[in-house]
Amino acid sequence: MKTEDLYSLFRLHPAVSTDSRAISPDSLFFALKGPHFNGNAYARQALEAGAAYAIVDEEAYAGNERCILVQDVLNSLQNLAWHHRNQFTIPVLGITGSNGKTTTKELLYSVLSQQFNTLATKGNLNNHIGVPLTLLRINAETGMAIIEMGANHQKEIELLCSIARPTHGLITNVGKAHLEGFGSLEGVMKGKKELYDSLSINNGHAFVCADNPRLVEMSNGLTDITWYGTSPSCDIRGELTGSQPHLRFSWQKKGNEEMHTVNSALSGDYNFENLLAAVCVGDHFGLSAEQLKRGIEGYIPANNRSQEVEQGSNLVILDAYNANPGSMAAAIRHLASHPSKNKVAVLGDMFELGAYAEEEHASIIRLLEELAIPQACLIGPEFFRQRKTAPALHFFENQEEASAWLGSQRLSDSLILLKGSRGMQLEKLLPFLHS
Ligand code: ATP
Ligand code: MG
Repeated sequence: MKTEDLYSLFRLHPAVSTDSRAISPDSLFFALKGPHFNGNAYARQALEAGAAYAIVDEEAYAGNERCILVQDVLNSLQNLAWHHRNQFTIPVLGITGSNGKTTTKELLYSVLSQQFNTLATKGNLNNHIGVPLTLLRINAETGMAIIEMGANHQKEIELLCSIARPTHGLITNVGKAHLEGFGSLEGVMKGKKELYDSLSINNGHAFVCADNPRLVEMSNGLTDITWYGTSPSCDIRGELTGSQPHLRFSWQKKGNEEMHTVNSALSGDYNFENLLAAVCVGDHFGLSAEQLKRGIEGYIPANNRSQEVEQGSNLVILDAYNANPGSMAAAIRHLASHPSKNKVAVLGDMFELGAYAEEEHASIIRLLEELAIPQACLIGPEFFRQRKTAPALHFFENQEEASAWLGSQRLSDSLILLKGSRGMQLEKLLPFLHS
């Protein structure tokens, strides 16, 4: 079926489902394939659950008249999203980077929604499926779209940009994330730069953090840039004025003496650049200083990202959502800078590091020692491989062993950082951190 024909069908049935267990009524069900499932096999179930049509790519499942056979379901979904996006002339802001994409997106959603009917990626749906699904939610009322774009290998951002055609773009930062797929830090830079390349081709506008030499280098060649950072030459200049318990900062616009202050609900100095990015983009789209303040101050982090959770007399910095060497080091530095005396780092393995795994876990252990974190509980096979005898370091092969140890410690009046890759599911340790 041609994209135009599929689009006519989509106009009549503008909801899209991809999970046969959660079918929206009268939707188009796209029978995607994953490593562990074949959506084709669920087409009939989806139709029974209320889908209007099922888009399949295996003849064996195309018997029903409400099953539409295409060559490749994923391709059809992406082409449909591209076609749909092209019907609108709204600003589309693409956000990528190694860390801070979701936080920046959520901050911006909070800011921009005050003025525009804003559509943003739900949660972390930032890949080759999530981006098309987000774009397909654009409708005639949408005033602006914020699209989070994730990548763990080259050409992925290029593909996402070719579908979303961002008019504006922001790379939060580049660091050692997904080294396995990108091969090296240079590889990560090249992969993320695909967003700037797309802006270059389409006369798009970039927001670039001038404090980050890697981003400055990558943005070479772009002509339409708004700069943010701490230097007076930036279009939006900010200064961190306090970080306990939450980040406070002031900012001003180039050529304007007026200073504005914002008291955010975020902690961790690394979030400062995310906050300033939100000011920069919000200001660009015409929001007032007051609206920027209200939008940013109104954003309270959730979903295990830099969340603070009281567990009796203990305070847990719950950052168990994900980890890579850059964000892990940033979180440890944040813990180290905290005035609290009883500090404990409970850290899980960082995944997807390939050949760099040993070196990067070793460097985290070194950082803990350098910063003299009084107690660290290190969990997972990668950390365990590097076990050594040191009074402040405790190594565990898995969560069960770690929870037994944590339970026996009866921690109280402590500040505890909980961070590891998603697969480590460290949030399950929370009950053992209650005093
Ligand atoms: P993902 O790749 O999983 O989508 P993301 O880029 O969307 O991640 P967030 O979800 O915003 O990132 O943040 C995840 C974690 O990364 C945070 O909890 C924090 O530990 C860390 N982080 C956020 N912003 C930064 C930053 N600017 N620099 C370093 N680390 C950061
Ligand atoms: Mg994210």
